[in-house]
Formats: sequence, structure tokens, C-alpha cells
Amino acid sequence: MTDSRDRMEFDVLFVGGGPANLAGAIHLMNMARKKGLELEVCIIEKGSTIGSHSLSGAILDPVALKELMPDYIEKGCPIESAECKDSFYYLTPTSSFCMPFMPKYMNNEGMNNEGYFIISLSKFTAWLGEIAEGMGVNIFPGFPGTEVLYDPGHTRVLGVATGDNGVNKDGKHKPNFEQGIDLIAKATVLGEGPKGSLIRNVGQKMGIFNGKMPQVFETAIKEVIELPEDSPFMASDTTVVHSFGYPLGLNTKGGSFLYKMKDNMISLGLVIGLDYEDPALEPYEAFLQYKKHPLIADIIKDGKVLQQGAKTLSAGGLYTIPQLSVDGALFVGDSASMLNIQRLKGVHTAMKSGMLAAEAIISAVEKNDFTRNTLASYDASFEESWIRDELYEARNFTQAMAKKIIPMAIHLGAQYVTGGRGIKDPLKIEPDSSTLKKLTSKQAEMIDNRTKEEVDGKLHIDKLTGVYLSGTQHEEDQPCHLIIHDLDICSTQCYQLYRSPCTRFCPGEVYEIKKDETSNKIQLKLNPSNCLHCKTCEIKDPFKNITWTCPEGGGGPGYSIV
Ligand code: SF4
Repeated sequence: MTDSRDRMEFDVLFVGGGPANLAGAIHLMNMARKKGLELEVCIIEKGSTIGSHSLSGAILDPVALKELMPDYIEKGCPIESAECKDSFYYLTPTSSFCMPFMPKYMNNEGMNNEGYFIISLSKFTAWLGEIAEGMGVNIFPGFPGTEVLYDPGHTRVLGVATGDNGVNKDGKHKPNFEQGIDLIAKATVLGEGPKGSLIRNVGQKMGIFNGKMPQVFETAIKEVIELPEDSPFMASDTTVVHSFGYPLGLNTKGGSFLYKMKDNMISLGLVIGLDYEDPALEPYEAFLQYKKHPLIADIIKDGKVLQQGAKTLSAGGLYTIPQLSVDGALFVGDSASMLNIQRLKGVHTAMKSGMLAAEAIISAVEKNDFTRNTLASYDASFEESWIRDELYEARNFTQAMAKKIIPMAIHLGAQYVTGGRGIKDPLKIEPDSSTLKKLTSKQAEMIDNRTKEEVDGKLHIDKLTGVYLSGTQHEEDQPCHLIIHDLDICSTQCYQLYRSPCTRFCPGEVYEIKKDETSNKIQLKLNPSNCLHCKTCEIKDPFKNITWTCPEGGGGPGYSIV
């Protein structure tokens, strides 16, 4: 924090315009209104609009929404399909087998009689944003929080600094230069989504992840496809198709989802655990293979991709949740690992975490005490909440899924009958950056001579067309937001040991390897303007050589229906 920068002061600052912070802000305003409290509340969001960076598997368990807003139907909640009729398949390369029973956590036909429904997360968050704004919340899209502001001893969070705009590639000011602002708040709520850059910094300074298991993630590549008017799938009863097996096999964590939406559209995607071991695996190619599987090809026949995107999900669950509050700040949603990967759902838990944080903030306002003494009531209410109960049952799930097929089946079976405890509790897990195996010479040869899946530009598209259909835009002339700490590692060790896996795990074709014809020297080239902000590279890089930072405000994807 410097004296030369502009500053704005708020009672409460929410960083990130996702479901956790939006639900938190709405709940906070509701409670403040009832208690006659006047609060200055602000949400900043790095995307150009609320919803433009929201992407997720999107069957909503409405338990938190009903608590927040019992009249959500009257308020126009955007619902794509009010019915969830499940089917669950095991796929081999050429066949599919419908599972005779649905694991209880995969059942979407209304666990707890809540009546689940299918949403587009980008439309849903845009709707929540309108409601929050209508209640007096100041919403600033296009403002990335780039730095946490602390007191001199780093014992208290004071707020967040937004990034500068109008800086060129060399770090020089352009004519349109605008300096970022220091946003100061009594309470700052970090809800940046998975692998947040600010919570990473709080972790380093204030130790909130100390003693926890490493955070682990999955990457989802997702599309919305428009089907023809006479599509048999649209006329069928089925609205939800989940699968496992092909193309990942049984030793790589992951699976697929396909949901029916409005207006002859479907949303489908492949989710891949980032603890995969095979350095030759290319998630995007696996996604194309999944779409060409006979079961899926039949459903999407004659369709056209309308939008594509990619995002990581926090998969670690209960044992990876950090300390939830410090002096001046609270941590919610995927940033705090609240997603239930066993159910492939995190919107309801994110919303509830935001609401619990809001309740602690109201107590802090009433006591005029924003230290952890008061804010830790959020940590305590989380322990008493249904989120904790739900995540407790899934506490060893992701660890079991990381194992090979036989031990995985044994662990999952034991967890199923013991309410999540299983054979060992807690089961350990490795960070995703440490799981990639070194290439064999056969794999290196295979990668060097690989031919890509065929695309037709309509139903099957390449990565660059996918970037285009994600609506991703960045100012070209700005400092690269992907920090490569040591380029020598890329051209020597990483290329030799793994054949530059960033060129395969990045779904945006941001990373390219160039070989100098005469010297044979390998060089990494970056195309940062293609970045989908999924953060896979920071998570999976085996040398931890990549740090993702926020680019200039408003840059990134422009999701509207995924
Ligand atoms: Fe995702 Fe990193 Fe590629 Fe951007 S550069 S799309 S964050 S993997």
C-alpha cells in the first residue's frame, strides 16, 4: 500500500463474483436490512461481467438457494431443466454398459427431496449479481484483485489492491495508463475460485494451509452444443448422462457429464483428475475422443458447438480446507476447497460457505471487532453446518480415486459402508505436481509422431476454435500474466523428461515448443492471450515453474451459456 495510490473504503469487500461471494453478499444485505444496519459492500470481479468467468458442472442442489431466497422461482432464477433423470454408463472404446444402480451420491433425482435442477452457471451467477446489485451492493466487474494488503506485521488483512491498466509488454505506461486502486475493508472475503492467487499469498504469509493435506484439483473441459430440432435425445426422458471408463481408462481419475438444457442445447464435459501419471495424456484430445464414443456420438449427431470453456475444480475436500478466517479476512467457496467432488457439485456448498461467512461478518459489525476473535465464528459455524456433514462423508473419496483400480475399488467399497471412513482415515494424497511419471523412450517417440484427433470445425473443434468460442479476449500489449520462473528448465529438463507437458495439459494452446532447425535448441513460446484462466498449468507443472497471475482487468473468457 502506498500513499500515491487512490483508495476506497468499504465495510465489506468480496473478491470474486462467483456463487459463494454473491450468496454471501445477498445474505449480508438481507441481515443488515433486518437489523437496521447500513453497510457499504463491494464485489470486485476480474471478468468483464458477472458470470463471464463462471463455468462448472451445473446440476444445482438448491438447498442453499432455498435458504437464501425461498422465492427464487418468483425472482426469475434461470433454470435450464427442472428435471434430473439420471443415467450412468461404463464406457469401453466401442461399447457402453448402463450401470444397474446409481451410487447414492451420484443420484440427481432429488436427494433430500430438494428437487435438483440443471443451470448454466454463467447465467445463474449473472442473475445473482443483478439481485445483489438491486440490494445496494457495489459491483465492479473488470477489476482483478492482484495483491493482498496487510498491516506492517502481516498479522491482519486490510483489503486488496486492484491491478494497473494500460501497461505495455515491457512494463512501460501506455497513454491509457490507469493506476490500480487500494480497496480497504473491515472484512475482506476471498472467493476467487480454485487455486486463487490471493489466498495463496495469505497462505504464505499467515499459514492458513499449515497442517492440511495438499490441495488437489481436477480439470473440466466443457461445451454447449446445439442439437437439431428433431434430435431423439431431446425428445427422450433422460436429462443427465454420466460416464466413466473410456477414454481415461480405470487408472486415471475422471469421468464425463452431459446435461439437457433449454432451446435444444446440451452441456457436456470431461473432468480429469490432475493427479494423472501419464505424461503423454492430453486432456483436450481425451475430450474429443469422448465425444466420438458411439454412445455420445449418437446423442450429439448433427450438432454444433456454440461455446467451449475449461476450468479446474478443487477436489481435495474436507482435509484440504484451510483455516477459514484470519484477522480482517474470510475464505469461501472453491478457494477454500468447499466442493464435494464425490457428488461433482460445489455451487450449493460454495453458496452456503458465503452465507456462513456473512453471518460472522454481521456479528463482527455488531461488536465492531473484525479480528479472528469474532470472525472465527465462521470456522465454528462451518463445523456445525450441513456442508461439513456432507464433506465429512466424502473425506477420503478423492484419495481413494487416486489409487489404481483394485485398491481404489476396495477403498471406495469400504468407504461406502462406513460413512466415508473406509480402511484408513485419513488417507494421504500427493500434490498434483508430483504425480507425472517420467517418459519412456517409446512414449517420447509416440508424442513426437502423434497425429491429433480429426476435427470438422462444427461438432468437433480444435483448441484454437475452442478459445474463440469461449469468447476469450485479452489486451495483447501487456506484461505476460504467466510467470515462467526458469526458462532453462523448460528447454532442458522438462522437454527431455516429460516432452513439455504444458503443451498438452493446457486447453488453450498457450504453450508451444519451437525447435531451432540449425542448433536443435528447444524454446518455449507463450501465447498468453489464449489463456482460459483455468490454472491447470500452475497446478500440474512437474517443476512448479509456472505461476498464474491476473492479467489486465476484464481479460479472459466471455462465457454466457456454459
Ligand atoms: Fe489454463 Fe494455464 Fe493454459 Fe491459461 S495457460 S488456459 S491457465 S493451462
